[in-house]
Amino acid sequence: MEQYQGKTIFNKIAIGKVFFYQKKETQVKRRHVEDAEAEIVRFNAAKETALAQLDQIYEKALKEVGADNAAVFEVHKMMMEDEDYLDSIYNMIRGELINAEYAVAATGDNFAEMFAQMDDAYMQARAADVRDISERLVAVLCGAGTDMHALGEPVILMADDLAPSETVQMDKSKILSFVTRHGSSNSHTAILARTMNIPAVIGIDIREEWAGRTAIVDGYTGTVIIDPDETTLEQMSAKMRDDERKQQLLTELRGKETITKSGKKIHLYANIGGVSDVAQVLKNDGEGIGLFRSEFLYLESDTFPTEEEQFKAYKMVAQNMDGKKVVVRTLDIGADKQVDYFNLEKEDNPAMGYRAIRICLDRQEIFRTQLRALLRASAFGNISIMFPMIISVQEVLESKRILEEVKAELREQNIPYKDVEVGIMIETPAAVWISEELAKEVDFFSIGTNDLTQYTLAIDRQNPKLDNIYDSHHPAVLRSIRTVIENGHKGGAWVGICGELGADTSLTETFVEMGIDELSVSPSFILPVREAVRNLC
Ligand code: PEP
Ligand code: MG
Repeated sequence: MEQYQGKTIFNKIAIGKVFFYQKKETQVKRRHVEDAEAEIVRFNAAKETALAQLDQIYEKALKEVGADNAAVFEVHKMMMEDEDYLDSIYNMIRGELINAEYAVAATGDNFAEMFAQMDDAYMQARAADVRDISERLVAVLCGAGTDMHALGEPVILMADDLAPSETVQMDKSKILSFVTRHGSSNSHTAILARTMNIPAVIGIDIREEWAGRTAIVDGYTGTVIIDPDETTLEQMSAKMRDDERKQQLLTELRGKETITKSGKKIHLYANIGGVSDVAQVLKNDGEGIGLFRSEFLYLESDTFPTEEEQFKAYKMVAQNMDGKKVVVRTLDIGADKQVDYFNLEKEDNPAMGYRAIRICLDRQEIFRTQLRALLRASAFGNISIMFPMIISVQEVLESKRILEEVKAELREQNIPYKDVEVGIMIETPAAVWISEELAKEVDFFSIGTNDLTQYTLAIDRQNPKLDNIYDSHHPAVLRSIRTVIENGHKGGAWVGICGELGADTSLTETFVEMGIDELSVSPSFILPVREAVRNLC
């Protein structure tokens, strides 16, 4: 039994087998091989693994999305066994004495190019499929086994680091816990772990030899145990059962009001990153959604999500919440949330760079598409729109002007929408200090304490070295929150908190005393916060 100490992200325990996540190779390197036949044996073994993965994906898709949509994976299998495709790979390995990864990648590129040149639209569409199967083969050859669908039992996922775009694309039902070498507790990957309700530990010197071995992640202490002995396993299993019992007790608060003993009602909403998180919100009895991080729709996608795709997602969330409030934050891309297809330039200071509303006001076609989708979806529920990273009244006026233009366009086209509430995130010191003026322009404020702490204390929330002094309880942050609540109310705006601090029950009393109207927290924190509010006088 070996024990390692890291830093915890979420208090829970997981027991399971270790799986190593390797990043997708973006560039396959050409390597000389001495023994072409041995390389071909290696390739054939990888092909069998990839075919088995496709079998599993097909079965899963069949159950989840039906035979028509699952059929593409049958096509992938056929393509992977196509004689011309395989001959090209074998010939390259034998003729040029090169590694299998390179032969597969080059063959994939050639075939994709060939398909793309064809007149027939069906054949053109096969270009993407041949790239897909080649990437799958390369991933297996690189020993990555990154395909989460290929996993049987859920696993403890270990990685050097995880970007939000990688985390959102994972099959969440297959992950028991995250353990990473790098990362900070305020990063979006950490936030995602909390949303997913799974224990996570960072700062562990992970080793590949742990792959496949049994581990325990103790999110209470930040400990990771490899090959636990029987006694430890029994102790931890008992701790897990204890957790479940506490969780069970909290479920008695479902359906109860979030109200103090003296009758002060708090709106207790949830933070989500996508449609699939709504189930957790309903399970935990969220009274609404106070922050839908819409940028995760963009992070999940390989190209700009279309108006139609976004409309469907927003509509589904609004409908599933059945008339309860759903605050959708417009695109907050940039900084740690990077998407290749935006082609953002590398910046020295991305947290203070070209991001969020700055991009939307600059690249208005992206913004307008999102606003159209949101307004169209507003007809199906109770949607509010919130703009992120605001630093001036001017930005709010400009954003609202564009929103009005999009509404006018919809009216002209006889497309229905509702008059949505408009709010802003307060996450910069500038917004705090002009909150009195800002309140006159909006219906609500939502305080983003994650960024507000970062910008108030001048501490990069991504930097693990500064984790210990990234202090959201700093008086400067708490006084900012008080100022924002007072100014918001003076201007007639309701005020909430949607940063992680909103879930900190050691501060619930302080927030209520300051006059907070709403708290929006990860779904798993809804019932603990309700309990804290109900215990207040
Ligand atoms: C925040 O900054 O507090 C916030 C809620 O936004 P995000 O964490 O997505 O930056
Ligand atoms: Mg923020």
